Amino acid sequence: MAAIAAATRTTPKWGLMTLTVLAASATVFLVGFEQGTLTGGLPVLHEAFHDARHLLGFPCH
Ligand SMILES: [Zn+2]
Repeated sequence: MAAIAAATRTTPKWGLMTLTVLAASATVFLVGFEQGTLTGGLPVLHEAFHDARHLLGFPCH
């Protein structure tokens, strides 16, 4: 029982780590570089990312 608990504590959670890196990368791309190509159909979403870019001081225009 203790061996299982120790293995669980030390085993990296690769799925969770991969998902976290992908989500962080997607967020940085959407906030920092998305110019309407992906959110052209949803102007509200584009405006939200644009506002976040300004809020965070990311270079924009
Ligand atoms: Zn701007």
